[in-house]
Amino acid sequence: MSKIAAIVRYEKPLESVRKAVDLSHGLDDLHPDAKVFIKPNIVFWTRTVPFPKWGVITTSRVVEDAVILLKERGIDDITIGEGGIASSPRDKETPAHAFKTLGYDLLKKRYGVKTINVFERPFEEADLDGFSLNFNTDIIHSDLVVNLPVLKTHAQTVVSLGIKNLKGTLDIESRKKCHTVEEHEDLNSKIAKLPNNFPPIFTLLDGIFTLERGPSFDGKAHRRNVLIASSDILSADMVGAKVLGHDPQEVPHLVFAARDQNRPTDLSDVKIVGERIEGVASPHEYAFPYNEEGTLPLPFEKRGIRGLSYRMYDSTMCTYCSELNGAILMAISRAWKGEPWDDVEVLTGKMMKPTPKKNKTILLGKCIYEANKDDRNINELIAVKGCPPLVKAVVRAFDQAGIELDPAFLEDRDKIPGLFLKRYEGKREFDESFFKIF
Ligand code: SF4
Repeated sequence: MSKIAAIVRYEKPLESVRKAVDLSHGLDDLHPDAKVFIKPNIVFWTRTVPFPKWGVITTSRVVEDAVILLKERGIDDITIGEGGIASSPRDKETPAHAFKTLGYDLLKKRYGVKTINVFERPFEEADLDGFSLNFNTDIIHSDLVVNLPVLKTHAQTVVSLGIKNLKGTLDIESRKKCHTVEEHEDLNSKIAKLPNNFPPIFTLLDGIFTLERGPSFDGKAHRRNVLIASSDILSADMVGAKVLGHDPQEVPHLVFAARDQNRPTDLSDVKIVGERIEGVASPHEYAFPYNEEGTLPLPFEKRGIRGLSYRMYDSTMCTYCSELNGAILMAISRAWKGEPWDDVEVLTGKMMKPTPKKNKTILLGKCIYEANKDDRNINELIAVKGCPPLVKAVVRAFDQAGIELDPAFLEDRDKIPGLFLKRYEGKREFDESFFKIF
């Protein structure tokens, strides 16, 4: 049994991360000349409003602790890099604002680390056993990746941990390419292969805050104070999944990864040190609730919304449509005036098929438009062809379907994350200082 995973309770700055590193032997034998790439998880950022970062973004506390432990080993060449989600990869200000707000500029001054937005750096193609994706060159050519994801669930992939965190080093085309339709080459099978061409990876799951219905600000955060560390990324993820209440066997990308490596998913080949899984685990929901038929979000059904079918997202919807999708659902909820709409169906992603006899069918996004534009089951086809769709086109399409969305609400959707802060008001355990460097 050569794989070790450490579970440690987070108790105090530096010492808790040190304990996780020591118990897992994660930074043993590291040469002082090594080039180290730290990959946090900044899945989302906005400059417009403060928003809940708990369980969404890696705490700056853990990032600084990791830097200190590397410096103690004499490492000078440290890069912190992320390709987080601004609405556009051309947007350089939002990632810079994220790095500054999270205190990474101070880490630069204090420890001489470099920070990079991967969209400002070159990418190179890597073959992943039958398909290729473009990865950031800095991470691929480092000697060690210190992978610092958040311990969170994910609405499409059940959990988003060490393996999934590597997706943030891909270029945009490759990210879109991951969300394919083919049965045996879907999102999960592709994600499973992400680590294949990487240098050694030390993964430390930051579970000071965890997240239900992740990966972003609309999930529900918990203060759990747990760290999970391993030099074997799959072991870290399988333990992480268990701690979030999900058996690895029920997490498709972990099943694919285990199968690729001829490993069991029952953790029988992993030595767990530190805390016991049962001592820190708690159930975390990953999917947003829908009605029994899967045709409406449950809160819509409870409000009595009728005349609309807006099916549950599937894994073929990529990040850029997902980001807009949540805002559209909120805009629809605001547009409901109690009068049933005209039997409208909205299809998203790449593989949904129209339900016969609907009056109007909105095909939201280039992918679903291409997949269904000639389908004879559609009475009135309303197309939104963009990739990702433009707000103007979305508003026009829903207007044609008799659903009046507020264009300003969608144009200013950068403000939406701020609305979710209310959930955490007055709860002292949700401490913003974890996302600052002092
Ligand atoms: S249309 Fe949407 S789902 Fe399709 S590639 Fe573009 S952003 Fe992704």
